[in-house]
Amino acid sequence: MKLICIGRNYTDHIKELESEKPTDPVVFLKPDTSILLKKQPFFIPDFSDDVHHEVEVLVKIKKVGKYIDKKFAHKYYDEIGLGIDFTARDLQTQLKAKGLPWEKAKAFDGAAVIGEWLPKSNFKNIDDINFSLKKNGEVVQLSNTKLMLWKIDELIEYVSKYFTLKIGDIIFTGTPSGVGKVFANDELKGYIEDQELFSIKIK
Ligand code: ZN
Repeated sequence: MKLICIGRNYTDHIKELESEKPTDPVVFLKPDTSILLKKQPFFIPDFSDDVHHEVEVLVKIKKVGKYIDKKFAHKYYDEIGLGIDFTARDLQTQLKAKGLPWEKAKAFDGAAVIGEWLPKSNFKNIDDINFSLKKNGEVVQLSNTKLMLWKIDELIEYVSKYFTLKIGDIIFTGTPSGVGKVFANDELKGYIEDQELFSIKIK
């Protein structure tokens, strides 16, 4: 399975990183080895001094598809989740400056947190879901899927032009503002509405 990640999908996050607003979604992949195993802490890798949390809404693909029209995209997922796209920001900044791929900064072991899944049927409208991240009990990221530049079904249409979607693939839909550095002993908890979907210790 693969993790398909979207960058720069919330205007407020584009502003905080002083990035340009993209004309198409920014897409990158993480391998399955980047998934943080359940109940394991996240170890800050020794090649970075500035690992950031990026909380993101996740979509789990349940059906094989290619060139999926956004009108039919809802048929390809039943579950919505929440995760973290851990990013070695110092390394990413260096790579971006040289025009090089981001993988070393985003696809390393443990860089993908995947929380519990919720049935899509729990939501009246998947384009209106509140989600948040608490760091040591304090809300640091808080947003709503209606603020995405490209909504979930549009992302499925877009990425499936390039990649065949397979059962179990997961789409990370991009982070809102409030990204920040993590330190040893931090505790990160992710919520959709009031429901806690993951709790991670940083080491
Ligand atoms: Zn991200």
